[in-house]
This record gives sequence, structure tokens and C-alpha cells, in this order.
Amino acid sequence: MNRRALRTAAPALALMAALASGGAVAGGAAALAQRLTIVDTHIDAPSRLQQRWADLGLPAPDREFDHPRARAGGLDVAFMSIYTSAAQDMSAQARQSAHAQIDAVEALVARHPDRFALLHSPQRVQAQLGQGRVLLAMGMENAAPLEGDPDAIAGFFARGVRALILAHGANNAFADSSYEAAPRWNGLSPAGARAIAEMNRLGMMIDVSHLSDDATRQAIAQSRAPVIAGHSAFRALTPGFARNLDDDLARAIAAQGGVVQIPFGTGFIEPRAAADLAALYRARNAFNARAAELAAAGAPPEDRAAFEARWRAEHPRVTGTLDALLDQIDHGVRLLGAAHVGIGSDFDGVGGYLPAALSDVSTYPVVIAGLQQRGYGEQEIAGIMGGNLLRVWAEVEAVAEMQP
Ligand SMILES: [Zn+2]
Repeated sequence: MNRRALRTAAPALALMAALASGGAVAGGAAALAQRLTIVDTHIDAPSRLQQRWADLGLPAPDREFDHPRARAGGLDVAFMSIYTSAAQDMSAQARQSAHAQIDAVEALVARHPDRFALLHSPQRVQAQLGQGRVLLAMGMENAAPLEGDPDAIAGFFARGVRALILAHGANNAFADSSYEAAPRWNGLSPAGARAIAEMNRLGMMIDVSHLSDDATRQAIAQSRAPVIAGHSAFRALTPGFARNLDDDLARAIAAQGGVVQIPFGTGFIEPRAAADLAALYRARNAFNARAAELAAAGAPPEDRAAFEARWRAEHPRVTGTLDALLDQIDHGVRLLGAAHVGIGSDFDGVGGYLPAALSDVSTYPVVIAGLQQRGYGEQEIAGIMGGNLLRVWAEVEAVAEMQP
């Protein structure tokens, strides 16, 4: 049967019923999840550990990532996000927090050497997998820990960081953010351009998620190696949500050999939820502008907590669906080819705002079953679930080895 016929014949609800009853679809997809090398490029476990500690080698029911569920889901390589907020930009706090988060990842491995290992190179995946281990790679989300200095990247590379997002929720010393109403640099700053060259030199992946369109375009143009979008969906399906990738920029990423890793969060993949998020960022920007005006006038500030609470009350959460994720993957495959699409769930990073079917790291077989239902073959599924990312990472390393 061709892919289109399968799509109309098998709605995702039937798939979910089959999974719930332990049907044949689930069995096949679960076995495939165990056999394939699954790579997820965005899991926010380390920053959550800083807020509230848990042992992720054991069942951790208030988290979306722990070893038992990662094994159940067939997860092989988990990129731990070393996240610092825009509020920490240019503060010593950010560097301190990044090191503490890396320490926490190392502590997981030290506590459970039979369950976790640190992964520093895609060449090491096959040698390090096995005996039930989940490999932990690290990516840095927001360059605040560099304190404005591209030379600081080498120190974090030495500690195992293998991907870097230059900015997060606000324009910073390196790049403009997609969340900002107005640019500061019209893309990358001079330090941002130096950071791109330094990542190429070291063999660190450039991750353009969160960057403004101009910063993304410049990062692609300046990089000698393919770049990734480690947790970005497609804006074409969520109009007006600048945080997601524009089709032309996605094509430019693929043309250079890179990959777009689709997140699972409802706010990224469901159009109405993304529209709400975009409106929230606009409202926050307006709130911040008013706050600055009030402060300048010496007037008392508005109540930020009340503003946020009112927003949440007026914009109830949207129900996320597996189909929305599959629609995103389909769009990427049609636009770029199956070799340029992957997954970067954002587990532990979206406050639990996820489709019920995609609630934690045990649910990769649900994604695989969904792809099978939509007619994808094993080769394509293997690429999307991890092979494509490992290929790009290896290319990034190869470029570093042939220095100009
Ligand atoms: Zn993020």
C-alpha cells in the first residue's frame, strides 16, 4: 500500500487503541525501538536536577527522563541540555550553573556506570552501547556561561559539551533570539561569528534552535560544517510562531547536510498552542516595555505574577496529539527528504505540556508505530529516530579534523 492510502486508512486513534491493548502494531514498533539507535537531541533533565534533585538511574516519577523508562523506550543517546536562562546572561551565575549541571551528568554516570556512560563522539556509540546502557551526550542551551567570550567554548568542549545554542529567550552578546520583537545585531554579533568558527574548529555542533531568522541564516552561511536545529518544528504548520523554523531556512540547513530535530511539546507542534505561545511572548514583551517605562517614571511596578496567572486562566492548555508530531515529520520529509529530519523531544523542558501519547522517554515506540502507520519504511525510520543526527555529528567532527 502506498503511504497516502495508509494515512487515510489508519487514524492515530486506532493506533493508540492498539498500543493500549498491547496489539501487534505496538509489538513491532517496540521491537524496532530496541533494535534501532535512537538519538534524542534535547532533554532538559540537568537544569531540573538543579531545582529539585532526583536519582535518574532509578524510577523518577516526577520526571520525563529516567533510566528505566529510557530503556523501555529504546533510547540510546540522550542529549542532556545544559540550560541557562536569558536572565542569567553576562552573570557569573550562568557559568556556575553550567558547570554544576555538567557535574550532575557526570555524577549520574559515576553512580550508575552500568546504566549510563558519557558520549563524546558518534564514533563511540556502538562500542559504548550494550548491557542496557543509555549514553549521555551534552548540548549547551544559551551561551550565557561563556560570559561573552568565544574562547570559553574550548573549556566546555573539554568537559564534553558537543552542541551549542548561542541564544535563548533574549538577544545576548552572541546572537539575536526569535522571541525578541526587535533585533540587537541583525543576526550574529562579531563574538557570535567567532563562536561559529570556534565550534567548527573544535568539532562542536552548531544548534540554531531559538535563534532569529537572520542569526540562523548567518550561522548556516558562516559554518563550514552542517548545522542542526536541535529542537525546532516547522513554522509552515504553526503560522506566526517565529520560534519554529521557516521553510527556506530549513532547506538551507538540509542543503548543507544538516538536520531538523522535531520537538514533541504541544506548544511547538499544535497550531493553536503555538499561536497562544507567540501571543504570550508578545504580551510579555509589552509587559516588560511597560515595566521599564513605569520604572523610568518612578511609578510602582505592575504585578508580574498576576499578569502570568491571568494569561494562563485566559488561555487554557490545548490537547496535544501524536498526529501533530507526525504532521511535522511528514512536512519535514516532503520539504527536505527523510535524511534531514530527526527528533529533539524537549522532555523535562516544557512543564509537562506534551501530547498524552508522548508523555516521557518510554514513548519512542509510539512515534515509530505512527511512522509505520503513515507508510515509512525501516530505513527512513532508522534515520529519523537517530541515524541522521549521528551522520551529521560525524560530518562536524570530520570538518574539524581537516582544519584550513
Ligand atoms: Zn529550548
